Amino acid sequence: MNIILLGPPGAGKGTQASRLVEERGMVQLSTGDMLRAAVKAGTPVGLQAKAVMEAGELVSDAIVSALIGERLDAAEAHGGAIFDGYPRTKAQAQALDLLLDERGEKLDLVIELDVDEDALVDRITGRFTCAACGEGYHDRYKLPRVQDTCDACGGHEFKRRPDDNEETVRTRMAEYRAKTAPILPIYEARGLVRRVDGMAPIGEVGAVIDALLDG
Ligand SMILES: [Zn+2]
Repeated sequence: MNIILLGPPGAGKGTQASRLVEERGMVQLSTGDMLRAAVKAGTPVGLQAKAVMEAGELVSDAIVSALIGERLDAAEAHGGAIFDGYPRTKAQAQALDLLLDERGEKLDLVIELDVDEDALVDRITGRFTCAACGEGYHDRYKLPRVQDTCDACGGHEFKRRPDDNEETVRTRMAEYRAKTAPILPIYEARGLVRRVDGMAPIGEVGAVIDALLDG
């Protein structure tokens, strides 16, 4: 089973990917992580990528393809691959088809975790945590029972992440749409795209994904 997992920030993509890796033995092929790992390990492709990056240039599709090829064989020996952050362009989508084809494999599904942008803004902009124990709270949905006192540890200091604001959330959503716009139509045309409600509780999202993978 080879899938592409898509989802904007806040949709829980990382959580679901980790779960698939843990429960199904799938291998997550995240190009950013793979590049860093290959450079660090000094593999032939890593050395090539390092030279390109040190020259301040973008790593080419050929290098990324070679990198994915290196890891794909390992992924196939396990539970399949989860592509994360790749492909981004039509050319990369074609390269991926070729890489899979060479191995007698194919892309089975493109799963997109869908979010309602306004609901996401509402969820993210209200959240804050206890500075001492990390217990999570929300301005509208979960205030401490006693004002300014953590339910869990009695602490009085709370913190908010500076990027938990509406502008940042909307900018990230726009970036996500721009990044996925080139490839979604390709996979839509092939009938591979499945949308899962990323606003549902984590367990429910997981169950829907499992049903898609097993169906
Ligand atoms: Zn606390």
